[in-house]
Amino acid sequence: MRFGIHTIDEFDVQGKTVLCRIDINQPIDRENGTLKSISRIKACLPTLIELSQRGARLVLLAHQGSDIEYKNFYTTKPHAKVLSQLLSREVGFIDDVCGPAAREAIKNLKDGDILLLDNVRFCSEEQTLFEMHLKLSHAQQAQTQVVSKLAPLADLYVCDAFAAAHRDQPSLCGFEQVLPSAMGRLFEQEYCVISELMENPKRPCVFVLGGAKISDAFLMMETVLKNSVADTVLTGGLVANIMLAANGEEIGSGSREFIHKNGFDDFIEDAKQLLTKYPQKIVLPSTLAYIENGQRKEAPPDLLPADASVLDIGSQTARHYADIIKDAKTVFVNGPMGVFENPQTQDGTKIVWDALAQTEGYTVIGGGDSITATAKYDATDRIDYICTGGGALIRFLSGEELPVVKALRYAAEAFK
Ligand code: ADP
Ligand code: MG
Repeated sequence: MRFGIHTIDEFDVQGKTVLCRIDINQPIDRENGTLKSISRIKACLPTLIELSQRGARLVLLAHQGSDIEYKNFYTTKPHAKVLSQLLSREVGFIDDVCGPAAREAIKNLKDGDILLLDNVRFCSEEQTLFEMHLKLSHAQQAQTQVVSKLAPLADLYVCDAFAAAHRDQPSLCGFEQVLPSAMGRLFEQEYCVISELMENPKRPCVFVLGGAKISDAFLMMETVLKNSVADTVLTGGLVANIMLAANGEEIGSGSREFIHKNGFDDFIEDAKQLLTKYPQKIVLPSTLAYIENGQRKEAPPDLLPADASVLDIGSQTARHYADIIKDAKTVFVNGPMGVFENPQTQDGTKIVWDALAQTEGYTVIGGGDSITATAKYDATDRIDYICTGGGALIRFLSGEELPVVKALRYAAEAFK
């Protein structure tokens, strides 16, 4: 038991049917079904290997394609192929989630076998729209098709999908109502790293917050400053632009329009409050980069052209951030410092990411684009921990109890 949740070593799984929810949702080429990254698939291998070697009949539940746009969904068949290659053994696949074909395939499993079911989001009750509109309780989720058809075939439910732990959906929160449940090894590890970061960071602890997911960044900033987790917050990306605007500084009409167009105006008020409460802890860029006549230019806010769009932090600011990162004992990063996809506006991100690779401090990175930047700047092996979770990580850092954590804790109490 850890964090009030069972771990997989507590259960004898020999000959038992184990339903394991994983998160292997990855960017995919929809033309030919090629996965553009397999990092999440690799990350869940330890749990699968452990359970299978201990003789479990393993049934994997997963989704592919995100959220609200139904057209994003894709079969998990390619994932089964990748799993087979990575494990050097056959991982079965069935193009069904909880219908008669899937149930028959589950009943035919032998000890140690692994079977991946098709995309759980092909069931409407697994979709985010369904989640947002119906807001089913966990007890109600246990009545859905996915849970009511599959749970009777299983002895244990394992959740290893930390990256989806902020979702309140039946395949994540419903099985815990009716089956003994445990978290998988990846879930355990991510939970452990992040709670250590929140409860006991080595100091100085620096948060680097950039990117474009403003509401997440502000929620996180508020929490880590309020709880005194962060000693310093270095800002970049759109987060910094909004902070600068709140501080009464110039960011150019292009940036202001961008903020307005994306509905972020209200965050300027939030930013003002944060700056008033924590003036010593939040660091804003003193130089900014923009494009003029196709060239990268840099200037302090008061010297920006009136119509500028700020697309990166200036290199002087980036070097200042790099010094702070190199002196830190803990660094958490979410969100790039600029539009790093464009070579002309990548310098800020590159300089900061090089510092992350070099610092002696403990480094943790989360967020899809931040991980892409980490690979782009060859820092992957030099970052101490790369979280597979984006949304879940941020909500955890914002101090919320994640729905899946709540569900797993419930099961630990209900099935002693
Ligand atoms: P992550 O995926 O790491 O959580 P986000 O999704 O929040 O990060 O932000 C990444 C995106 O932010 C990138 O696509 C990047 O181009 C964009 N971005 C960074 N800086 C700016 C900026 N100044 N203006 C507009 N977009 C930006
Ligand atoms: Mg992103």
